[in-house]
Amino acid sequence: MIVQMRTGTNPEEIDGVVQRAKSLGLNVQLNVGTDKTVVALLGSNTGQLATDIFAVLPGVESVTRIMKPYKLTSREFKAEDSIVTIDGIEIGGRRIVVMAGPCAVESEEQLMEAAKAVKESGASVLRGGAFKPRTSPFSFRGLEKAGLELLARARQRFGIPVVTEVVDPHDVSLVSRYANILQVGARNMQNFPLLTSIGSSNSPVILKRGFSCTITEWLTAADYLLAEGNSQIILCERGIRTFEDSARFSLDICSIPVVKKFSHLPVIVDPSHAAGHYSLVPAIARAAVAAGADGLLIEVHPNPKEALVDGLQSLTPSDFARLMKELKSIAESMGRYI
Ligand code: PEP
Ligand code: MN
Repeated sequence: MIVQMRTGTNPEEIDGVVQRAKSLGLNVQLNVGTDKTVVALLGSNTGQLATDIFAVLPGVESVTRIMKPYKLTSREFKAEDSIVTIDGIEIGGRRIVVMAGPCAVESEEQLMEAAKAVKESGASVLRGGAFKPRTSPFSFRGLEKAGLELLARARQRFGIPVVTEVVDPHDVSLVSRYANILQVGARNMQNFPLLTSIGSSNSPVILKRGFSCTITEWLTAADYLLAEGNSQIILCERGIRTFEDSARFSLDICSIPVVKKFSHLPVIVDPSHAAGHYSLVPAIARAAVAAGADGLLIEVHPNPKEALVDGLQSLTPSDFARLMKELKSIAESMGRYI
């Protein structure tokens, strides 16, 4: 951390910064210029200290962080890639793992049809929301426990692991009994009680990026899960909100190599919520694989026209089958496979 003192600061103010740093166990390097004094604070935990601790002291002009605020998620903490294993499927290795299914579990018939279709096309995980966090309370909010039971039935019938969203910290153990992977949705990325509860379970988890959150905030949220002892974390880029409004969100394709650079965690991409329209999904999915994503989370509905949620962005089973073929050749050209 670098503390820049105001021009004309006095020795007592500089000493105030030095003493505060020492009280926190930090080492101090003073750089006294003719006009300005800069105090460098050194220590292994400076990334976790609030800059306000120093910014509030008399004579301080600005405080700049050098260390990242996240720790356990960082490559400095763990250099090699983390691999999350679900039912023998490795996420974060050479294989690109495709998770697909409807936005919401709507009925037994809908889910079974979707499960059969995505499995036949080569998806490794079935998705489907039982608890749906909706922007409006008057929209369909999911079948809840009945939806979880249908997911478990599909898992058994088609031999495919399932991922579903959990929105309430009190539901973590319930959802863990039915799902192989818990999903934290974009709207809950900084729901710290939820993260803490999932962190102390040992369920694998997909942590979606909040649509107004920076990559640093996203990786720091992942620290909440790791800090509680859960190391089976998969990050998911799903688009952020920008000034551009021709798609539902703007997929931040850069975040894939950036996350790979700064973190050891696997990262997947959800092209469906980014696009908001089925016609845009295949191109974004292909781009994500080419950019180095470890997997995809794609909405597929047996009959999008009848979907209760997100029909416009859902692929039909035949569109999904075509996309899977395209993705296979992109994966191969990247030295990977699906
Ligand atoms: C979802 O996956 O159905 C979902 C609600 O996604 P997000 O949290 O990314 O909006
Ligand atoms: Mn959806």
